[in-house]
Amino acid sequence: MSAADAETRTATLELVGVKHKSLEDYRRIVGDELIDEIRLLATRLKGVRLLHVNSTASGGGVAELLNSLVPLELDCGLQVEWRVLCKDEELFKATKGFHNALQGMRSVLTPDTEQVYIERNQHCAAMLDGGHDVVIVHDPQPAALPQFVSFPGTRWIWRCHIDTSNPDPNVWGFLRPFIQTYDVAVFTMPEFVPSDLVGPRMEFIPPAIDPLSPKNRALPKYLCREEVAEFGIDLSRPLMIQVARFDPWKDPQGVIEAYRLVKQDLPQIQLALVGAMAEDDPEGWDVYNSIREVAALDADIHIFTNLTGVGAHEVNSFQRVADVVIQKSIREGFGLVVSEALWKGTPVVAGNTGGIPLQMQNGIGGFLVDSVEECAERVAYLLTHSDEAEAIARRGWERVRDNFLMPQLLLNELKLVESTMA
Ligand code: UDP
Repeated sequence: MSAADAETRTATLELVGVKHKSLEDYRRIVGDELIDEIRLLATRLKGVRLLHVNSTASGGGVAELLNSLVPLELDCGLQVEWRVLCKDEELFKATKGFHNALQGMRSVLTPDTEQVYIERNQHCAAMLDGGHDVVIVHDPQPAALPQFVSFPGTRWIWRCHIDTSNPDPNVWGFLRPFIQTYDVAVFTMPEFVPSDLVGPRMEFIPPAIDPLSPKNRALPKYLCREEVAEFGIDLSRPLMIQVARFDPWKDPQGVIEAYRLVKQDLPQIQLALVGAMAEDDPEGWDVYNSIREVAALDADIHIFTNLTGVGAHEVNSFQRVADVVIQKSIREGFGLVVSEALWKGTPVVAGNTGGIPLQMQNGIGGFLVDSVEECAERVAYLLTHSDEAEAIARRGWERVRDNFLMPQLLLNELKLVESTMA
């Protein structure tokens, strides 16, 4: 094995640098009451040493959340560090399997996979020094860290972002002993708690979107249109999009099938699939390549990635310009993209699964669907009833404003930290 190989095989806990954010900037969006409540709580938590650990600093919802949450926690006076597991293809191959298995895919757990997971977690745990009051570990990738350290003053929180309501028994049986050592386990909804999980205190906190991030902040309509047109989209014709990692659970194939059904009645329709490649998701390229083969046969199917110039700003524009946003997930922990689209006043047609119904209901934000046919029918309906589509989207926007904006998540997290230290 070369030195370079060895380097890519060893997980390290890399520190992530974040931008500066000011909680005061959010006052005009969410109002005084919420900001004042956060400020009051923050005075009690000043100086608390908090560490977040997850698998990647970019791509996917957890990275999106932490890029906003960590700067706001810093602005609240906490001493916050964010660390990620880096450059470990073998670990990410194993843990993507865990991710799939926890979302219900039947899996076989090999001794090699177990060994990679345990070794890497043990190796990373040795880099921690116990200098934190609270450590929040996100998702399964680093979940075994507390197993390998003993820091008497540190409280451990496991933050699960995926739908673990029906996990594969082999993989869950392997991971459960690690999770059971935590002080607190946080799920998006009570339905996600595996039935045999005992030990940690359970908390339920939904994620949120950042209305001031490049992904979500207000943009002039003309700029969005110019930007999307530059990618070859014809803005005189209707556009449906899905923004999601290239992942079978996001069902990009189903989106293409739904688009084809819509096209039978509305031949002008165009489809854009926008998918980021996350470092910790080795399946992405396979799905991407298979989708590209299909897209090559139809000039009205467009595929974009963060590697071909569609970053946060461009996603913002696409979500604003699209006539309908699709999120045809089969399983979904939350699906930040749903709230992102609703916040921009764009109606959504989404899989009736996981955390999606928390964010929208039929007639509030869009429609929930259980099949390709239903998806196509609802998309066509929205495209041909523009006044109603606008009213439906407006109700979705209100729901996001009241429930799923970053200051609400910040408040919930600070309450969690305080109650965990009590
Ligand atoms: N995303 C992006 N570019 C893409 C695809 C996704 O920026 O090409 C972002 C998306 O806007 C959202 C996050 O990645 O903020 C995905 O989070 P979500 O909760 O929807 O799904 P996850 O990837 O965590 O399963």
